[in-house]
Amino acid sequence: AKNVYDFTEGGREMAGLLGGKGAGLAEMTKMGLPVPPGFTVTTEACRHYLRTGTEPGGLRREIEKHLAALEHTAGRRLGDVHEPLLLSVRSGGRNSMPGMMETVLDIGLTDATVRGLAETARQERFAYDSYRRLLQMYGTTVLGLDRGLFDGALHRMKADRGLTDDAGLDAADLTGLVEVYKALIRSATGADFPQDPREQLYEAIRAVFRSWNSERARLYRRREHIPDDLGTAVNIQMMVFGNYGPDSGTGVAFTRDPATGQRGVYGDYLSGAQGEDVVSGVRNAVPLTELRHLDPASYRALGDFTGLLETHYRDLCDIEFTIERGRLWLLQTRVGKRTAEAAFRIAAQLVDEGLIDEDEALARVTGEQLGRLLFPRFAATGDRPPLARGIPASPGAATGAAVFDSAEAVRRAAAGEKVVLVRRETTPDDLPGMVAAQAVLTSRGGKTSHAAVVARGMGKVCVCGAEQLKVEPALRRFTTSEGTVITEGSVISVDGTNGTVHVGALPLEDSPVAAYFEHGTGDGDLVKAVDRILRRADEVRRMEVRANADTPQDAARARRFGAQGIGLCRTEHMFLGERRRLVEAMILARTDPERRAALDALLPLQRADFTGILEAMDGLPVTIRLLDPPLHEFLPDRTELTAALAAAEARGETPDPHATALLAAVNRMHEANPMLGLRGVRLALVAPGLIAMQVRAIAEAVAERHAAGGDPRPEIMVPLVASELELHLVKTEIKRVLAEVAAETGAVTGCPIGTMIELPRAALTAGRIAEEAEFFSYGTNDLTQTVWGFSRDDVEAAFFPAYLEKGIFDTSPFETLDTQGVGRMIEIATAEGRAVRPDLETGVCGEHGGDPASVRFFHHAGLDYVSCSPFRVPVARLEAARASV
Ligand code: ADP
Ligand code: MG
Ligand code: MG
Repeated sequence: AKNVYDFTEGGREMAGLLGGKGAGLAEMTKMGLPVPPGFTVTTEACRHYLRTGTEPGGLRREIEKHLAALEHTAGRRLGDVHEPLLLSVRSGGRNSMPGMMETVLDIGLTDATVRGLAETARQERFAYDSYRRLLQMYGTTVLGLDRGLFDGALHRMKADRGLTDDAGLDAADLTGLVEVYKALIRSATGADFPQDPREQLYEAIRAVFRSWNSERARLYRRREHIPDDLGTAVNIQMMVFGNYGPDSGTGVAFTRDPATGQRGVYGDYLSGAQGEDVVSGVRNAVPLTELRHLDPASYRALGDFTGLLETHYRDLCDIEFTIERGRLWLLQTRVGKRTAEAAFRIAAQLVDEGLIDEDEALARVTGEQLGRLLFPRFAATGDRPPLARGIPASPGAATGAAVFDSAEAVRRAAAGEKVVLVRRETTPDDLPGMVAAQAVLTSRGGKTSHAAVVARGMGKVCVCGAEQLKVEPALRRFTTSEGTVITEGSVISVDGTNGTVHVGALPLEDSPVAAYFEHGTGDGDLVKAVDRILRRADEVRRMEVRANADTPQDAARARRFGAQGIGLCRTEHMFLGERRRLVEAMILARTDPERRAALDALLPLQRADFTGILEAMDGLPVTIRLLDPPLHEFLPDRTELTAALAAAEARGETPDPHATALLAAVNRMHEANPMLGLRGVRLALVAPGLIAMQVRAIAEAVAERHAAGGDPRPEIMVPLVASELELHLVKTEIKRVLAEVAAETGAVTGCPIGTMIELPRAALTAGRIAEEAEFFSYGTNDLTQTVWGFSRDDVEAAFFPAYLEKGIFDTSPFETLDTQGVGRMIEIATAEGRAVRPDLETGVCGEHGGDPASVRFFHHAGLDYVSCSPFRVPVARLEAARASV
């Protein structure tokens, strides 16, 4: 098999084999753009190495062949003592994993070649600057030494010279630093830094292979749902030098603003620098527009090339470039990560520009992004001055306790605390802390710094480069320019939309997109873009979207958010608050008249609930679930009640008869495992007066709505059914009450009667149940609990972290549907139900109805609708459409 491809042989469609970076370099080469020549070792070779611990046979021969060709093109040879060819060895898997794997630059420098390079370039400083970079990158990446060793030595050197910036180090300093680094390597590993360029090259390649499995790369993949077995490609490329001097430099460019989507060329530039200097924040880069003055010719050329790339990729591109003595080189391109806001704006712009069509625009945005646009933001703070201002790198509003290192962030977050990770700058080692935090705040670095890029990718709030802040991780505090000291644990609010930081927790308000749904107002281009894309979504999607709503207010909101009905109206919420006492009275009733009196008191209240909801959803289906949870949930807590009575007794008081009766009832109804106890249809069968009251309330509400000229469309849903006979018995009772009310009022009260499918037995006997049920609604929360045998309230803290860690699942099955198990139940039940009743209506009413990946599954499973909370309705509309195109 072929393991190595020259940049002239590949293309963008080969990202699986060559990695995203390799494919992009090949594509740019094919387009005739100035890319330093090189070649790519395939991901397949990496997989072989990771599997067996050895390279594929013949790999070395292939590399040597391509290296010879590269030396020919470059006109320089690796290891040549007069004019050495230097190489970069760069990682890059199929999916972009910015900064998660390793890259080694300046391969080929040795004690001998560095002198040659200094002489031929007539630039000693540049040669030794490159050498010390190689020593550090090789030392950390290949030899596994701690980065702090090298940083510490550099820091001491700068401190000795009274410098704050690497740029101030002269040739003699750097020559000295090289000796210090070499001594460091010798003492830490017992061996000298290899003076054989080929050994450097092959060791670097192996280190890049191994970096696929570094801890941070694994963590990143788990978070981004990237498979673990893809492997990375290795790109071996001729070096070009941004650290040559002031007429050289390196930078990052975006073809549109990745934060807002605004058109134009954005980015950062740092002169006299190489490699990661821009993103690591070691020195603050200047905005790319400055390049117009520094080097107009290169700036123009960059503009031309970025334009070409954007048209070619038909999307926002993110480009790395280097200028070597006035000559521009492109080092990388990819379709750039962007904020949710930018994604919607850019998709709409590209449609306007004729680069993509409306269906393609649907593919360019995600439900998750739309969900983020609906998150609340901070309300205006008036004149209250912020603690600090930085660069708004990733939008959103987040509040949490300030913490100063990754480990502390992880510790506190695991204990349920919300935290903000505050650092001078972040490095890949901070990734666990960034994952755990609500927001990231740094005092250094620009929009393309590590913190900004990674936070944006994760949709985390980020403010970076807040330079007035003095961050002191060792003292666990930061200080503002006014002298305010914020210590670890103090709550701060970070606004990633405008780049401000405030002390304390700021109040929240609706986002502009949420406000648009709520009030139909707002005409910014973001709102227009969202509206336009959702309109298209409504045209192409097959599934309907309903909402879970228990009040007329929620129902009305759901309608404004585009719901086509209510998929789940929970009646238990209607028994809380004041009405709890009536429920208590019903439970405590000893005689039929007592019980009837309690139910009669509840009836008008329930009827008013239903009337309001049916009015808010006039003309659309409203699926009402009969009372579901265990009755004792409406009674006081057993332990508290026992304690209160015991205390009263101890004080010698005569026990309150009501409290005594309550305790007796609580004890009688106590269940060891209430979620599998007396609830749902079981309750309806043993306490029949209760559902008769509920059904009467529904039917009377229907009659009222008819009388008012409305179009009420209730559907009655029976929860927790396991056997068709349960449903048959309850249905008979429901029909009896409906007919009774019809006779009394003369109204047409008939309505569909269906069931929830939330027990495995129901799913497995769905054919029988469909004989009785006119619709199925999959209660995926309970179905997940019962299919896995997980008690949701107990397992999430107890062992889900370990399960996620071990990869048993990569998200909680309560968040994203377990398609293999729970999904299969749904498929079986739908098929068997429809075989018996072809017009059986099927929907989902669990949390999963608003989860993007789950919505996609439900579409493919052929369900008729999903139902989710009102705020998730737009997300489900979008995802249902994206699944159809
Ligand atoms: P990452 O995937 O982390 O971005 P890269 O492989 O892109 O890693 O390398 C990091 C940096 O190294 C790039 O931004 C670029 O500035 C520099 N670099 C890589 N290859 C070369 C090269 N051939 N010449 C000069 N600089 C290079
Ligand atoms: Mg890169
Ligand atoms: Mg349930």
